[in-house]
Amino acid sequence: MIEIRFHGRGGQGAKIASRILGRSGFLSGLYAQDFALFGAERRGAPLASFTRLGREPIGERGYVETPGLAVVMDDSLLKEAPEQVFHGVFAHTPLFVNADPDQLAAHTKHLPPANYIFIDLSAIARQLIGSAFISAAAAAVAARSIPAIELQALSEAVKIEIAEFGLPVDIIEKNQAAARKAYAQAPIVPVSPAPTAAEILETAWQAVPYLGSAQFAGPTIRHRGSAALRETGNWRTERPEIELGKCKRCFLCYLYCPEAAMGLDAENFPHVDYDHCKGCMICFEECPTDAISRRLEA
Ligand code: SF4
Ligand code: SF4
Repeated sequence: MIEIRFHGRGGQGAKIASRILGRSGFLSGLYAQDFALFGAERRGAPLASFTRLGREPIGERGYVETPGLAVVMDDSLLKEAPEQVFHGVFAHTPLFVNADPDQLAAHTKHLPPANYIFIDLSAIARQLIGSAFISAAAAAVAARSIPAIELQALSEAVKIEIAEFGLPVDIIEKNQAAARKAYAQAPIVPVSPAPTAAEILETAWQAVPYLGSAQFAGPTIRHRGSAALRETGNWRTERPEIELGKCKRCFLCYLYCPEAAMGLDAENFPHVDYDHCKGCMICFEECPTDAISRRLEA
């Protein structure tokens, strides 16, 4: 499965870009999924949209955490919404940015590492459509690096998606021309594979300013299925301790623990995985025999 993320501002057409790409994949015989996350939902606000394509039915839902490729439709988002744009982006992740290629070095000097590709989609749209509507061009640069998508399918997808807005034929054809031009200009880049466990851990920590101090930080879950890699036990201020002599092996603590941090041994006595126990004390509250006590962490 290939996962693509588009970043744009409200009104730029990021959602339509993800729809065009999804439909291109569908018309090329792939399973496809696309949707958007609007946030503030007002014109100009940062938003993200997503496309998943695969040869098998796609059961995955939710945010694309680690895109195989991303398209940034407004270069100001690199600095104004970095927590969105660079979420799950690694040094090898292709990041297409709608900007003048001559500005690449100056623009990316202080930004996180990524495989930056600057391509002026706005110039293409202005020249061929007469506006800054870059959905078709944005979808096209992503489609270029997905071998299963045919140019004919891309062009047909642009036609269908733009027609849904009731726009006249000449505007549809201009958008198709913009898609073809962006497709021709875009380099073919290797779509990033799923990240390794080491890479996930590498980006596991994100400084969260707290009470004015940058020393406080919180572990973030960056990728589905990676929770076991995080030692979330460092959130804990209190720890549960079990007195096995009082335990009746009712399993309630095991069933109620929201972190699956309560395990059972061979004799069905509970034990705590302190690397992942976050100290919520639900087990303490639920234990019917008071076998669990709470202790402040040192
Ligand atoms: S304190 Fe919370 S997280 Fe820790 S073992 Fe008990 S229920 Fe689970
Ligand atoms: S809830 Fe209490 S009695 Fe029941 S298994 Fe857990 S520790 Fe034992």
